[in-house]
Amino acid sequence: MTLRNTCGLWLAGAAALTLAACGQASQTPEADDAPPPETEAAAPPQPDFAAVDTARIAAADETPDEWLSYGGNYDEHRHSGLTKVDTDNVGRLGVAWTYDLTTNRGVESTPIVVDGVMYVTSAWSVVHALDAETGEELWVYEPDVDYAVGAKACCDVVNRGVAVYNGKVYVGVIDGRLEALDAQTGELVWSTVTVDQSKPYTITGAPRVVDGKVLIGNGGAELGVRGYLSAYDAETGKRVWRFYTVPHPEKKADNAASDTALAKLANDTWDDEGAWVSDGGGGTVWDSIVYDTVNDQVIFGVGNGSPWNRDVRSPSGGDNLFLSSIVAVDADTGEYNWHFQTTPGDNWDYTATQTIILADLPLGEAGATRRVAMQAPKNGFFYVIDAATGEFISGENFVPMTWATGLDENGRPLEVAEARYGSTPVMQLPGALGAHNWQPMAFNPELDLAYIPAQEIPQAYARDPRFSDMPTKWNTGVDFSAGQPPEPPEGTIDAIRATLKGRLIAWDPLAQEARWSVEHDNAWNGGVLSTAGGLVFQGKLDGEFAAYDAATGEKLWSHDVKSGAASGPGTYAIDGEQYVTITTGWGSAYALAAGMGYDETVPSTVGKVVTFKLGGNEIIADPDLPMIERTPKAEDFASAEMVQDGTVHYARNCAVCHGQLAISSGVLPDLRWSAIAGDAEAWNSVVMDGTLSANGMVAFDDVLTPEQSEAIRGYVIRQAHIGAGEEPTGGQP
Ligand code: CA
Repeated sequence: MTLRNTCGLWLAGAAALTLAACGQASQTPEADDAPPPETEAAAPPQPDFAAVDTARIAAADETPDEWLSYGGNYDEHRHSGLTKVDTDNVGRLGVAWTYDLTTNRGVESTPIVVDGVMYVTSAWSVVHALDAETGEELWVYEPDVDYAVGAKACCDVVNRGVAVYNGKVYVGVIDGRLEALDAQTGELVWSTVTVDQSKPYTITGAPRVVDGKVLIGNGGAELGVRGYLSAYDAETGKRVWRFYTVPHPEKKADNAASDTALAKLANDTWDDEGAWVSDGGGGTVWDSIVYDTVNDQVIFGVGNGSPWNRDVRSPSGGDNLFLSSIVAVDADTGEYNWHFQTTPGDNWDYTATQTIILADLPLGEAGATRRVAMQAPKNGFFYVIDAATGEFISGENFVPMTWATGLDENGRPLEVAEARYGSTPVMQLPGALGAHNWQPMAFNPELDLAYIPAQEIPQAYARDPRFSDMPTKWNTGVDFSAGQPPEPPEGTIDAIRATLKGRLIAWDPLAQEARWSVEHDNAWNGGVLSTAGGLVFQGKLDGEFAAYDAATGEKLWSHDVKSGAASGPGTYAIDGEQYVTITTGWGSAYALAAGMGYDETVPSTVGKVVTFKLGGNEIIADPDLPMIERTPKAEDFASAEMVQDGTVHYARNCAVCHGQLAISSGVLPDLRWSAIAGDAEAWNSVVMDGTLSANGMVAFDDVLTPEQSEAIRGYVIRQAHIGAGEEPTGGQP
């Protein structure tokens, strides 16, 4: 309370500070190859604002009025001790305030709330500080990103949140910078480039801070990078340690914390040749990073292989450590402690970056507890492993799957032979979007239940017969055109949608079975919040934000937030009033690639922070969603052969952003109704010359011939003529 009062005084001057802090970054970012500090730095002075330290985060469960780190506490439970909102009164939850994030791109941020101030990120890594009680803007920090970097972002230009520590706010920027801001003013304190910016690295994940070190990884394994986790000095931005998750391309030492573990354990699990040597191998640490306070170690999730297809990546095979693994390292030095690989020899984009939750489960004799790490990665198995050693304890599939029949006694998947696909397409569950993606899982330690935002999104895998390195483009070795007809028969979209399911699953990690589950009509459901009020909160991409009874799954309340609601919700309290908050927006991997069937509207500035309290009666403004005129902008000119060619090249180069079957969900332009598609010259200048590269639409002349580009245009115009006669099939937003 004392801290809150201090903050209240400061808030009175917030408007003036906002004006002072809206400027662009003025400091030049520093490369991070400087040697670490030689001597232990003196303890930094304690700020009187946002005075968060390791002890305060470690004790987060005792101060549920705040939300101090991405996962709510170091164990990443996303379970709040607040009880004011409960199963009896949740029906009275209404909107307390909304704040416009002024974006039409995906929003995945979990807000941090410290001393009455909310720190939240938007698309393009923009940071907003708000009065958590009123939603009043305190400051905004725009990291001045070159939008061309959007072409490197596999899954939209999203950001999942900040870390707050010792008076500073830390944000990972989409172009690979890690930046520290003054928590009170939003002014840049330091900026460090954490990646080789000539390569297709991005950062979308939230940093974590432990004992004066900021932990951050990166993404980019769809395009071709080598993954790692780094620790930076929180005061200076100098690198302290780095752990590479896959070997050096020449299998030599990096002079990094990972050297010994790679030499002993990983190098021999990779071919000496193969596309990984030039593509980096993947293994990006793009989301889950957990500090284990008991064992003083950092446990993190490692992503998929690059390229995806192991036959291309490491032709002689091998487990390809530490792809798709959970890895534990010493928090001070980054030295290897243990690993557990969920998907040996990843072949399907089965990342193990999903939420890692630490808990003490009654697994021992007479109810004795054992400290475990739990994860429900993309591959569809729920794992319980020993947090001290990485030993496999148990695992079961939490969704239907076709790629494996179970796990052996060491937790190794029993693969179905056909899953190692060749040139014939194999339809598989889970697909590359996973049985669970970035949407945060929660854990209720009173009920010992994990709440998984699960999904069923099948995918056809086939080897790309024309695979070649495309240094700045998607580079998976998988043919996304597999099985795609040039002219989808009537009912195709409905048939595809019928195969897609989302579920909220209450998973009992002791029995390794679902206690209850709720099936959603939309596959891409949202992150989860658990509360001691006996509630589980979850949104969906269609805009429904709902509360369920934590014990039974009964839906007790819901509210239309009028935009995609996939982020992890949070909760906090001020002066005894409990608030529940969620960031909303329209975008992310699913909306980009698989948004077919949504209303064909253009979302503009639909991203918001929406905060609820009991008796709240504010209205969420209707988003500005102009309907698109469904008119083909050119005559249908392409021959059947040209459309066939265009189908293949569209699927390989365009679909992950502009939508499968040339149907966009509206995040990026629907090419069927684009004037540019109607004009051969304009199309050529955009696709081949890159005239819109400043918007993120970079040139494709390195991967397409002019004939192929024109074939894609012919395919798109054909789809326009087919689509113009059909009614949009509806859905929000
Ligand atoms: Ca991936």
